[in-house]
Amino acid sequence: MADIIQLLPDHVANQIAAGEVVQRPASVVKELLENAIDAGATTIKLIVKDAGKTLIQVIDDGKGMSTTDARLSFERHATSKIRTADDLFQLHTKGFRGEALASIAAIAHVELKTKQNQDDIGSIIIIEGSNIVSQDVVVVPKGTSIAVKNLFFNIPARRNFLKSNTVELRHIIDEFYRVALAHSNISFAMYNNGSEAFNLLVSNYRQRIVNIFGNKTNEKLVPVEEDTEVLKISGFVGKPEYAKKTRGEQYFFVNNRFIKSAYLNHAIASAFDGLLKNGTHPSYFLNLKVDPQTIDINIHPTKTEIKFDDEHTLYALLRSAVKHSLGQFNIAPVLDFNRDSNLDTPYNYNKTDTSTPTIEVDKSFNPFQEETQSKAVTYKKESAASWENLYVGLESKGTKTQQDFSEVHFESEESTGSIFDDDKYVDKIQTTYQLHNKYIVSTIKSGMLVIDQHRAHQRILYEDFLKNMTIKEAVSQQLLFPLQLHFSVQDIEIINQLKEDLEHTGFIFSSVNKESVEIIGVPISVPESEVSIILEQLISDVENEVPDAHFSATDLLAKSMAKSLAIKTGQSLKKDEQEHLVNSLFACKEPNASPTNRATFITMSVDELDKKFI
Ligand code: ADP
Ligand code: MG
Repeated sequence: MADIIQLLPDHVANQIAAGEVVQRPASVVKELLENAIDAGATTIKLIVKDAGKTLIQVIDDGKGMSTTDARLSFERHATSKIRTADDLFQLHTKGFRGEALASIAAIAHVELKTKQNQDDIGSIIIIEGSNIVSQDVVVVPKGTSIAVKNLFFNIPARRNFLKSNTVELRHIIDEFYRVALAHSNISFAMYNNGSEAFNLLVSNYRQRIVNIFGNKTNEKLVPVEEDTEVLKISGFVGKPEYAKKTRGEQYFFVNNRFIKSAYLNHAIASAFDGLLKNGTHPSYFLNLKVDPQTIDINIHPTKTEIKFDDEHTLYALLRSAVKHSLGQFNIAPVLDFNRDSNLDTPYNYNKTDTSTPTIEVDKSFNPFQEETQSKAVTYKKESAASWENLYVGLESKGTKTQQDFSEVHFESEESTGSIFDDDKYVDKIQTTYQLHNKYIVSTIKSGMLVIDQHRAHQRILYEDFLKNMTIKEAVSQQLLFPLQLHFSVQDIEIINQLKEDLEHTGFIFSSVNKESVEIIGVPISVPESEVSIILEQLISDVENEVPDAHFSATDLLAKSMAKSLAIKTGQSLKKDEQEHLVNSLFACKEPNASPTNRATFITMSVDELDKKFI
C-alpha cells in the first residue's frame, strides 16, 4: 500500500499554530507588546480600532530589524532569542518560541515597518495570510511598527466567534495592564478608535499602579518587600477593607512576566485569613524574582502558566511576606467588621443586620404579676422605618436634595411645602408636554420643569429593582418554554456571582451549566426577547466596572437592568404615561439624579424666563 503520511504545508501548519497562540485580538496585543519589550523599547504605542477586529498596531522605538531579519521574523520557529536548548533554562526575554509573528501573519493582513538605529533606511513588508505581498525599502524612524489588520479574515468561524467590541476591548485592556504593570520603566500609550485611552509615563511601580487604576488606589496599597536567596518579592497588596467581590486586580509577575497561579493565589488568600469579609478577594500587584533556572515557562503556549521547581517554599515565603506586611502596617487591628456597610454603599442591603430580630428579656419578669406580663418579651420588630435604613447612606445627600427642592413648588399648590410633601401634588400637575420625544415639560409653581425621560425612567427602575432585591419580593413571569442561553466560561462565572441577586429581581434559573444557562422565569418588567441582551449588557458592565472600593453587585445589577430597560430617547409617550413618569420620578428616594449621577430634570423659574424676555 502506498505511503499516506505527508508533511503539512507551512501555511497550514501556521494556521494550526495560530489557533493556539491567537485566540482573540488581545492575544495579538500581548505578543506584539512583548516583542517590543524584548527589542529594548523605551516607548511603546498601542493603537486599536474596533476592539482590534479592524486594526491592532504596536509602534516601538526598540532596536529594529535588518532587512533579512525582517523577512525571517515571519518564519515559524524563527527567533533571535534562543539558540540552543540550554538557553530555555536561562530565559531573560518574553518570547522564545518564534511562533507569534508566523501565526499572526497566517490569519491576518500584516504590515511591518522596521529600521535599526545605524541604518539610514528601513524595510517594509506586507503579508496576507502567510503570503508575502511586497517587500520594499522605506524611510522610517528607528524601531518597529507592526500593524495587524482584519484578524481572522480567512477563518470566518473564528471571526464570528469573537465577542462584542466591549468584551474584546476589555481583554485587550487587560493585556495592556499586565504588560504595563510589569514594566513601569517603559512608557506606554494606548489609543482606542482614535482617542487616547492611556498615557503612562515612566514611573515607579506604585505610580504606575495608581496611573492605571486611579488616584484612589494609592491609599489602598500596602507595600510588600522580601529578599531571600531563592525569591525576591516586591510590590503591593490591597488593604483588606478594599477587597473586592471580583478577582479583577490580582497580578503576579514572575521575572516581569504576568502569570496565573491558583497555588500562589492561595498563598495570598491564606495570608489574609480572617481579615476578609466572606466572598471578597484581596487585590495584589506582586513581582517575584527567581532564578530563571528554577522555572519552566514552556508549559503553556501563551506562557501564562509556569512551573516552579520548589513551589512549596515559594508558597510559604509569599504567605509570610504578605502576612508580615499586613501586620506591620497595622492593618489587622484597625479592621472593624461591625461597621455598617450600608454607610459605604447606599442601598446595599446588609442581610445580617436587619433580618435578626433581637430579643430583650425583662429580668424582673414575674409570671405571677399580671400587669407586667405583657411586656415580658419585647421583639424589636422591623418597622417600616427600618426599611428606610437601607437608604441610610443617602442621608447627607438627601438633605441637600431637599434644599435643592425647597424652591420648587407646583403651581396652584397652596402651602409652601416641598414637592416631597405628600401625594397631593400628583393631582396638581396641570399639564405635561413631551418635547422632541425626549423631554417631559411640566409647569410648577415657580416656573417650569423639564425632565429627561430616559434618565428619569432609569432612576425609577433602578430604585424599583433595588427594592425588589433588598426585600426579595420580586414577581416573576413564567416562560412558556425554557430559554437556553450560551455564554463563555468566564461569563458564566459572572452570572453565578450575580445569580442570587438576579433571582431577587425575578429571574428563575432552572440550571446553570458550564457554558449555558436555562431560564424559566423572568421579571415582570422584562420582555423575553430582551433577556439575552440584558444579561450580555450586565456581564460587560461587570467586566468594565471601574474598580471601586464600594463595588456592589446588587447596585451594578440594578443600574445595568435599569439602563437596558428604561424608556429610550426618541420614544413617544402618551399623556398618561408622561404623567406616570413624572409622578414615579418624584416618588423616588433620589429623584434628581440618574443612577449614574446625571441630572434627571432641570427647573426654570418665571424670573429666569422673564429675564430672557428683557
Ligand atoms: P519570539 O518573540 O518568540 O522570538 P516572534 O514570532 O514573536 O518570536 O518574533 C520573531 C522574531 O522577530 C523575534 O525573535 C525578533 O528577533 C523579531 N522581532 C519581532 N518583533 C520585533 C520588534 N518589535 N523589534 C525587533 N525585533 C522584533
Ligand atoms: Mg514574540
